[in-house]
Amino acid sequence: MKAKILIVEDEPAIQELLAFNVTQAGFLAFCAEDGDKAWQQIRDNLPDLILLDWMLPGISGVMLAKQLRADAHTKDIPIIMLTARGEERDKVQGLESGADDYVTKPFSPRELMARIRAILRRHAPQMPDETVTVGALELSPSTHRVTAKGITVELGPTEFRLLHFFMTHTERVYSRMQLLDQVWGTQVFVEERTVDVHIRRLRAALEASKMDNLVQTVRGSGYRFSLN
Ligand code: CA
Repeated sequence: MKAKILIVEDEPAIQELLAFNVTQAGFLAFCAEDGDKAWQQIRDNLPDLILLDWMLPGISGVMLAKQLRADAHTKDIPIIMLTARGEERDKVQGLESGADDYVTKPFSPRELMARIRAILRRHAPQMPDETVTVGALELSPSTHRVTAKGITVELGPTEFRLLHFFMTHTERVYSRMQLLDQVWGTQVFVEERTVDVHIRRLRAALEASKMDNLVQTVRGSGYRFSLN
């Protein structure tokens, strides 16, 4: 899945340059020219990382960074602050406002992309590499393969993460909200019923091996993964 990068920059030429480089680097670029547009974009499409210009019309990049950090939906989105100002105290203020990194214009696009990759790697949800086994079900994060009673199970990326979470957290009941937090991570704009859709897909994938009954609905509470 391509990471979504929101570019908040009011200068069209720089916005265009950033969007071009971000796209070339294999990410999806979304653009906004001020704080209001940025919030609209964020509501429509929660980004994985924000490139934020310091000097914006209306609210400044520093203020916007503070707003993002204060909001439960956006507090974990990494921010790289872009600025024409190179003074040390500006850098400190930028980082104190909640930015993860700070790049001074003019910047080298190649270096900026390397920093984006480094930050995305740091923020990527951790999935340990050990193979997990529950009953006759085996999941290997490193090879991304799942077998049930020796039969290969084809899963989409979300079902894979969902099953991995279940297999490492058996017997406990999780609400849809908890599953969203644990499996979807920061993309909490996803509606709760999305969980049901992926549960259905997961069960359908496990049906051939008759292991779909491991995914149990707990009425009024959520879901449980259990061998019993
Ligand atoms: Ca600007």
